Amino acid sequence: MGRAFVYVILGGGVAAGYAALEFSNRGVSHGELCIISEESVAPYERPALSKGYLLPEAPARLPAFHTCVGANEERLTPKWYKEHGIELVLGTRVISADVRRRTLLTAAGETISYKILIVATGARALKLEEFGVNGSDAENVCYLRDLTDANRLVDVMRSSSGGNAVVIGGGYIGMECAASLVINKINVTMVFPEAQCMPRLFTPKIASFYEDYYKSKGVEFVKGTALSSFDMDADGKVVAVNLRDGKRLLVDMVVVGIGIRPNTSLFEGQLTLEKGGIKVNEKMQSSNSSVYAVGDVAAFPVKLFGETRRLEHVDSARKCARHAVAAIMEPEKSGEFDYVPFFYSRIFALSWQFYGDNVGEVVHFGDFSGNTFGAYWVNKGHLVGSFLEGGTKEEYAAIAMVTSLKPAIEDLAELESRGLSYAMAV
Ligand code: FAD
Repeated sequence: MGRAFVYVILGGGVAAGYAALEFSNRGVSHGELCIISEESVAPYERPALSKGYLLPEAPARLPAFHTCVGANEERLTPKWYKEHGIELVLGTRVISADVRRRTLLTAAGETISYKILIVATGARALKLEEFGVNGSDAENVCYLRDLTDANRLVDVMRSSSGGNAVVIGGGYIGMECAASLVINKINVTMVFPEAQCMPRLFTPKIASFYEDYYKSKGVEFVKGTALSSFDMDADGKVVAVNLRDGKRLLVDMVVVGIGIRPNTSLFEGQLTLEKGGIKVNEKMQSSNSSVYAVGDVAAFPVKLFGETRRLEHVDSARKCARHAVAAIMEPEKSGEFDYVPFFYSRIFALSWQFYGDNVGEVVHFGDFSGNTFGAYWVNKGHLVGSFLEGGTKEEYAAIAMVTSLKPAIEDLAELESRGLSYAMAV
């Protein structure tokens, strides 16, 4: 048995939703496009899962955060897909792909063929077992990548109210989950091997601001060590966390956020891979001209950096998905993909944005004991990255703009003293 489509999007996450909107805007005909997703719901704004979804009062629930509300676009509910003649093949895992024959095989045994495939399979959460620790299956150990994980986390959080949680990992997921656990009246200890939180992005000075803020909310930090094992009760529930430095922490629940791995396995040996993802050109086209890749799984040329990068952020997923569809539907009109990497996070009453690249020398500015502060990164004489906490819409727009212009910086001290006003003047 089988079905055939002109366009198939494999994966039903953020990139898939934004690609669908772009296909529809560009006039895809009914029956031409299908989205295949392992998840049982239509594409949604994944960042909501660690923010609004975990709130104790009036939490965000579907259909409120289907794509593409995150970019103030239309909300694509299942009804929308139906009305636009876009087939949603949900709850369906693709188990193999044949790019030469242009076919996908689902776990249910169906073969779906395409003329053009957009791979939007995202990434999966790394498991503790990959670091030699067992216990991921315990009922009170939570990961957070999809709605199923989020529902589980909500249940475990509810049954642990007033208790203790250990959050393993000091990246995005760890930081956002820790804040949500505190808001849900759970005592939190964060454990990570690095010397600071958000080590891939934050400078020590920025990290120290957030760690102090978290401490003021009651969060404890155990840094420079890692999980070595869990102690379980007779029901297989984790009751204590043992760390490599010998500490033992009693817990009611554990949240693990130790990184992700792009879902490339279907295409290994068939498409060129780079930086852990599917390598694509400026049109988001892979080494096979019928296959495009977008979102977390794609390694694409970032003009601003002059190199291929794989980004694990929502803005990039949205924009490269739209760009790929433009390149597919109107290749002669689609311009260059000139993307300025953008990441953001919201935790407690705080909110930051980052644009560009965090390489080179750093200049901090603003009031680190107040609400608005930031940093610029200057590499080879040019401003290449900007970070801002607590900015206004205009201020965030200004740091985005200045980063995209990559201005020459002659005097770091002057940049430091001008601070945010430098970006505002450009
Ligand atoms: P995804 O949204 O992960 O979608 C991938 C889809 O492919 C899923 O539906 C999956 O089920 C499906 N799939 C995979 N393999 C198969 C298969 N074999 N068969 C069928 N279907 C398959 N970024 C930010 O910039 N800011 C944030 O604040 C932020 N918060 C986040 C919070 C959470 C909890 C998470 C998990 C991520 C967050 N991100 C954030 C990152 C952002 O959500 C991702 O960059 C974005 O979702 C990537 O989109 P994508 O479409 O590439 O992948």
